[in-house]
Amino acid sequence: LDQVDGIFVRSVKNCIFSESDPTPLKGPLRLAAVSKEVIEGMLGLDVAVSQSEDFLQYFSGGKLFSGSSPLTHRYGGHQFGYWAGQLGDGRAHLLGEYTSRSGERWELQLKGSGKTPYSRSGDGRAVVRSSVREFLCSEAMHFLGVPTSRAASLIVSEEAVWRDQFYNGKVKKERGAVVLRLATSWFRIGSLEVLAKAEEFDLLRKLLDFVIQEHFPSIDSNDPGKYLIFYSRVVNETAHLIAQWMSIGFAHGVCNTDNFSLLSITIDYGPFGFMEAYNPNFVPNTSDEEGRYSIGAQANVGLFNLEKLLEALTPVCKFPFSSKYYVQLYYSRFHKLFKAKLDLLGEEEEDEYLIAFLLKASERNKPFTSEMIKLSTGINPRYVLRNWMAESAIRKAEGNDFSEVELLQRILAQPYLTQDAAEEAGYAAQPPWWAQGLNVSCSS
Ligand code: AMP
Ligand code: MG
Ligand code: MG
Repeated sequence: LDQVDGIFVRSVKNCIFSESDPTPLKGPLRLAAVSKEVIEGMLGLDVAVSQSEDFLQYFSGGKLFSGSSPLTHRYGGHQFGYWAGQLGDGRAHLLGEYTSRSGERWELQLKGSGKTPYSRSGDGRAVVRSSVREFLCSEAMHFLGVPTSRAASLIVSEEAVWRDQFYNGKVKKERGAVVLRLATSWFRIGSLEVLAKAEEFDLLRKLLDFVIQEHFPSIDSNDPGKYLIFYSRVVNETAHLIAQWMSIGFAHGVCNTDNFSLLSITIDYGPFGFMEAYNPNFVPNTSDEEGRYSIGAQANVGLFNLEKLLEALTPVCKFPFSSKYYVQLYYSRFHKLFKAKLDLLGEEEEDEYLIAFLLKASERNKPFTSEMIKLSTGINPRYVLRNWMAESAIRKAEGNDFSEVELLQRILAQPYLTQDAAEEAGYAAQPPWWAQGLNVSCSS
């Protein structure tokens, strides 16, 4: 064990995955939410399968599919600007790859499924509140048209999980939950960084070649410039992704390199937030005291993360990657794409990351998204998962009433369509009085 900042790290060398089995959650188990779109549309199964006891077992870590060998991924990352060393799947297990009847492949992962070689001082669990948020938001993002991981199910248990939610020394008993998440790939910038930092260059090349072969099929594996092409793709897609976040007022909250997907999908939903009214300094995560990941900083943070990706690629690149030329080229490209995506920015716009269309929505005290509705027709959502909406559903879910989770899931599947039930619930209106001062932290 290595000790880093007082945290014990089981330092794992020369691998990309470690075998590790989930730890079953203590019952009784309850299916708190299920995504019909994912189970039927992506996995090609009848959603009725989710009603069985077996489903609860398989997707909370209680049973393993025969012949399967769950994996946990070794990755590292830059957290809040600094290299944090080895991180890895500390509470997630990759169950395997699922090929649907239509030939689509999905990596199925449990989150909250117990300790792994990468748990450090953590308990390997995830609480109900953060799991509800991840389930609801990842599905909502999909229906907003934003590239994202998906969530198939949310299973809650009676297992006690202790958390100091606001880091104020008050540890409270909560309950454990497991989300079944899907993505075409869970590799992150930090997946490559850890190999580069450890100088495991053969593995680095192996992982890069694998990612390119599996997920960037248009890149010729014999092309000597393939890593350069790969990098430019990630730059493009990441610029598009962040522009999409901005266009709906989404702040991820923890834009560390370990939370940035190599496939440029939104992953690892934690203390994210949707802006209520225009404010470039909006910081959803109360633990982020310096506001490093404010909504207005996301484009620049994207650049920082891409720079870290570039650093990770440099040891295995034949091209003069780190030369100022390429860096400049890609960064100007990033900004161009970013601006094009938000298409209201003119060429003369000098501000690098402030978004012109946000300025137009600068009237205060209006929910950001409904303000946007007045500005352009049909392209802005009426409903997004604002904190108070998630909080309201979570309070009920804590008492095993999942009706509001279900309501939100249904409403957010059609975020552009005015719906009676949503209007009644005030989902497009000002936040209710009780939501004043509501905040979210990294504790999850
Ligand atoms: P996150 O901020 O949730 O993206 O997590 C950062 C790192 O901490 C990842 O390596 C996680 O796997 C790990 N981690 C977070 N919570 C826990 C936990 N309760 N137990 C073990 N590892 C955790
Ligand atoms: Mg095993
Ligand atoms: Mg993470």
